[in-house]
Amino acid sequence: MEQNHVTIVGAGIVGISIALELQTQGFKVRVLDRSGVANEASAGSAGAFAFADIVPLATPGIMLKAPKWLLDPLGPLSVPPAYAVKIAPWMLRFWRASWRDRYQAALAAQSTLNGFSSTALERQIKNVDGEPLMQRDGQMQLYEGEQEFRASLKSWEVRRAFGIAFEHLKSPEEIAEIQPGLDPRFTHAAFTPDWMNTIDPRSWAEHLAQAFKTRGGEIERVEVLALEQSGDGFELMTPNGPLKASQVVVAAGAWSHHLARTLGDRIPLETERGYNTTLPAGAFDLRTQLTFGGHGFVASRINGGVRIGGAVELGGLKLPPNFKRAEILLKKAAQFLPTLNTADGKQWMGFRPSMPDSLPVIGASPRASKVIYAFGHGHLGLTQSAGTAELVAALICGKTPAVSTAPYAPTRF
Ligand SMILES: Cc1cc2nc3c(=O)[nH]c(=O)nc-3n(C[C@H](O)[C@H](O)[C@H](O)COP(=O)(O)OP(=O)(O)OC[C@H]3O[C@@H](n4cnc5c(N)ncnc54)[C@H](O)[C@@H]3O)c2cc1C
Repeated sequence: MEQNHVTIVGAGIVGISIALELQTQGFKVRVLDRSGVANEASAGSAGAFAFADIVPLATPGIMLKAPKWLLDPLGPLSVPPAYAVKIAPWMLRFWRASWRDRYQAALAAQSTLNGFSSTALERQIKNVDGEPLMQRDGQMQLYEGEQEFRASLKSWEVRRAFGIAFEHLKSPEEIAEIQPGLDPRFTHAAFTPDWMNTIDPRSWAEHLAQAFKTRGGEIERVEVLALEQSGDGFELMTPNGPLKASQVVVAAGAWSHHLARTLGDRIPLETERGYNTTLPAGAFDLRTQLTFGGHGFVASRINGGVRIGGAVELGGLKLPPNFKRAEILLKKAAQFLPTLNTADGKQWMGFRPSMPDSLPVIGASPRASKVIYAFGHGHLGLTQSAGTAELVAALICGKTPAVSTAPYAPTRF
């Protein structure tokens, strides 16, 4: 096999971004995906390039708050009883990740990757003439009353320390200047102007995939069952027989650890399942992304309509979806945005690929230096896709990556 050939498993936003970046740098790239382009998590995200979201989920003290959330089976965080035992080892690592020193390290690493990804995204947009698919409208985090707002101030100081721009709004009138039509229970807000959204995450991934194909890239629909070392290369086992590869990238989202396992690598990847309902154009005049942090969901503008989504369900890859979660979020949204037209919504559930410390895995397999892992971006896969692509390309080219990939090493657990 030629040394400048790369095979990527996974055509989600991460795999497609890597494919395009490697192709731009002169590699011949083939992408394998069992379900086509962006048919899993990358299809239904909120479409946010959430560069201001630098605080990991495992914050100090979170394990004291979590049991209260878990008492409500349809609350923002849930663990279906059928999955409670299976998720326990991951939860233990999550708890360790919330220890102050580890949290501080993860915070710095998340901030670095988000910052780098925002500049990489601008290069990616230019590369594919992607500006028409972007919405540069910022984001507003909403608070119900002074007490909730005050409780958030510490986290805004953390963001300030990492250079995130924001403005605090302290009355419903100030909020209405940016977003009219909100229930007056929201008395305070924080607006992050540098936040961006795509008009539709599926269309964005398809746009990148189209550019990749037009420039000679190949996308093949096939399931990869296992990776095996063979001579100085690899065989990718598929239902149609083995495919040979000299260099492999695993970007298979929430399923990536299964492939890593076939090489002998154990990586503590889990899924945080999320839900949403997408309402058609005209449902509400949404002018910025709205984040209802206390309720664990957001409202974002998708194709001129509104997507109401969020929730974290630690329920693994096999249990059937519980669309009551999507209904609950939509009901709440209708209270918070009294003129929201909730008719004709389309429900969806997706699998966020999540590591216990909220950081992705970006780095070579400890058992095979020519297999690069790029997965586990959790809530930030779209946000960090362009940055991840540049880091992976640097690793494959043998160049020093623009930011150190040590915090994202597959061996860190
Ligand atoms: C409700 C919700 C809202 C979200 N909102 C945002 C947001 O606003 N901003 C943000 O940055 N992130 C958001 N996320 C997270 C984001 O969607 C994910 O982090 C991101 O899509 C992960 O991309 P990926 O390419 O790694 O995985 P995926 O999109 O899941 O792609 C993985 C691909 O690998 C393929 N695959 C898997 N196994 C195999 C195999 N064995 N053989 C062949 N193919 C295989 C799958 O078919 C799939 O196409 C959200 C997630 C959810 C659920």
